[in-house]
Amino acid sequence: MRRKRQKVVEEIEEVAGGVEEKIAVESIAEEVAEKMEMKVRSAKVVINKGLDASFINRMQEARQTRKYVGVHVSAAGGAHFAVKNAREMGCASFALFLRSQRQWNAKPLEPELAKVFAADRSASDYGMPLQVLPHGSYLVNLASPDPVMLAKSRANFVEDLQRCEQLGITLYNFHPGSTKGEMLREKGIAQMAEELNHAHRQTKSVVTVIENMAGGANQIGCEFEDLARVIALVHDKNRVGVCLDTAHLFGYGYDVSSADKFDAVLKDFDARVGLKYLRAMHLNDSKAPLGSKKDRHENLGKGEIGLECFRFVMNDDRFNDIPLILETPERGPDLYMSEVNMLYSFVKK
Ligand SMILES: [Zn+2]
Ligand SMILES: [Zn+2]
Repeated sequence: MRRKRQKVVEEIEEVAGGVEEKIAVESIAEEVAEKMEMKVRSAKVVINKGLDASFINRMQEARQTRKYVGVHVSAAGGAHFAVKNAREMGCASFALFLRSQRQWNAKPLEPELAKVFAADRSASDYGMPLQVLPHGSYLVNLASPDPVMLAKSRANFVEDLQRCEQLGITLYNFHPGSTKGEMLREKGIAQMAEELNHAHRQTKSVVTVIENMAGGANQIGCEFEDLARVIALVHDKNRVGVCLDTAHLFGYGYDVSSADKFDAVLKDFDARVGLKYLRAMHLNDSKAPLGSKKDRHENLGKGEIGLECFRFVMNDDRFNDIPLILETPERGPDLYMSEVNMLYSFVKK
């Protein structure tokens, strides 16, 4: 029994990750060990702490304004910890990585933990399907000219989509990739669309959301035209969408620094791609100047874009009911929380 208990503590610690959680974990380990419901139980105990009034108010604010602002949060210890992290920062939506960004392989999701994630998400009012936006692995390149790389990318991509379905997540955001200059652009676009078709056949419903990119001659998806071409080749149009990143738009040369300019960019997007494909936004200021082709995120109001851009987003109906995710430089949960609060303060009553 003693050894069994020790093993339980170790396993739960792995799930819990952080120091704070560890204390809670140790105190419940014995009870959990006896019932042999190890991880599920521990996760519930840790996560259900702290559904406080300010969070409930935030969710009401989100529903009223139809703006679902959130942060890319840490999922260290397991996807279910992302829910807790998001809630503590007053987020009405959130993004997360579904696996380590440095490794191709990931341990399979444990079905019991997936159940905890789904239950906690709905208990936290994240139950609306549009409010969680996982970010794909940076290692993946669906436009890769190298067959070995492409095969690895394909497997990783499909696995992540399956993870989304296990977790009850309906959107999946990813970078379109690069031809590395070793393949014609058109061929890269066609290959990427074919990979999406393949991934859609392997899964049931998750929507693959392509992110616009900031630059690099061989990168696909910097221009709206590229995004339109990929979408045209995807068979199931219900399963493809776009996530516009304000820092990437600006870096590439789409000026979103004022309401009028952003409005013109959105009209251009609507004409070339179609607003119905806009399924998410990444809200970042940019350290890099307009048209620099550089991807350098900055905290809101501290960069070259400035606050008018974000004021516009918070007051324009075209951004209703989609995740609006901050990926600003991480300077602690307090700054994230103040950025989220600032965005809500921009909404004209
Ligand atoms: Zn991204
Ligand atoms: Zn982004």
